[in-house]
Amino acid sequence: MTFEPTLDFARRLDAQDPLREFRQHFLIPPAPDGTRESLYFCGNSLGLQPRTARAAVERQLLNWQELAVEGHFKGETPWMHFHQRLQEATAQVVGARPLEVVVMNNLTTNLHLLLVSFYQPTATRYKVLMEAGAFPSDQYALESQVRLHGLRPDDAIVELTPRPGEHTLRPEDVLAKIEELGDSLCTIIMGGINYYTGQVYDMAAITRAGHAVGAQVGFDLAHAAGNIPLHLHDWDVDFACWCSYKYLNSGPGGVSGVFVHERFADQPELLRLAGWWGHDEQERFKMRKGFRPMRGAAGWQLSNGAILTMAVHEAALAEHVAAGGMPALRRKSEQLTGYLEFLIQRLNLPTSRLEIITPQDPAQRGCQLSLLVHQNGRDLFEHLMAAGVIGDWREPNVIRLAPVPLYNTFEDVYHVGEVLAEWAARQ
Ligand SMILES: *Cc1c(COP(=O)(O)O)cnc(C)c1O
Repeated sequence: MTFEPTLDFARRLDAQDPLREFRQHFLIPPAPDGTRESLYFCGNSLGLQPRTARAAVERQLLNWQELAVEGHFKGETPWMHFHQRLQEATAQVVGARPLEVVVMNNLTTNLHLLLVSFYQPTATRYKVLMEAGAFPSDQYALESQVRLHGLRPDDAIVELTPRPGEHTLRPEDVLAKIEELGDSLCTIIMGGINYYTGQVYDMAAITRAGHAVGAQVGFDLAHAAGNIPLHLHDWDVDFACWCSYKYLNSGPGGVSGVFVHERFADQPELLRLAGWWGHDEQERFKMRKGFRPMRGAAGWQLSNGAILTMAVHEAALAEHVAAGGMPALRRKSEQLTGYLEFLIQRLNLPTSRLEIITPQDPAQRGCQLSLLVHQNGRDLFEHLMAAGVIGDWREPNVIRLAPVPLYNTFEDVYHVGEVLAEWAARQ
């Protein structure tokens, strides 16, 4: 598509957008001057509230009010089986079979639970590979998992670093490192998309390469779920987890999703930290000794579900599905992000001042563009905020902007371009 830097052009694209109605399904916070909506470009950090979220929570509050403990088994949405209501849509979002997914806990908790099962080092095969500069929680989780096995993080954790002068990983370098580690590599755990650079990693190729050397392969999909098409089952990924509050719009601290490949569905002996909600449903309330997991990902559940946040998640997933799921969202997303990139390039700032570190290749990125601002970065960020553009700032000098296809418009992107141009003209 050839883009044009005019309001007219942006409005034309919006008029033709098959998803244009969905913006009305979300609550957009006001700009600081109170006269209009903000330009919300921060769905990478916290997605907006679906209008249906409140009623979904109120419905469960009413169940609690009227049914109290009976709500576990009675009413239209018995809490005992509530996680099943999320299974089909969740499987669609990540390209899985329903048996392979479950929604529970929070992301870092789930990362730990999965690493207990999928990072089981031996004396010779104990290395774990991740990208350098992964989200801090993932780094801390991994360090502590390594220590749990009596190993030293600086020995066991191998980090992938971009080549000197580059900001993102070359796909061939990732594969070469996996091959080099060979028999010593126990587990690969990478982001599906790096939170800082917005780079999408080639999960299919990484999984193939990992399996070829006998390693297990998992992804943290916090920035990928609801953002890019995923095919975890077909890619043969072993395990994955993600949060629901970024591109899945399910509210602060919302529940997390887990994927465990079907081939582990009937391996009750696979080591895990167990709890009663993972125990065979038929026997759960017999309260007997001896853990017998449910089949599939459900066998990793620990506790009875957080119904209020799961209710929001159900409402938010319904929006995702109604929009046509990832294929429809992705079509618009590539254009929205492409348009933002086009407008930033038109600023004509030298890369010594401002550069987009997110890959240019649409296959290697999702919604987000990361702007590395070499001088006056904080000043640019404050200029954006004052003009009602909500993005986010990541130390030391990156601004992340993510136009989200469910609720952002081409006109939003056009206006952000204008705000950036005002700043650039002063430089
Ligand atoms: C957002 C994010 C987290 C946050 O973890 P919580 O447990 O939900 O607080 C962790 N890892 C990555 C990669 C993230 O992007």
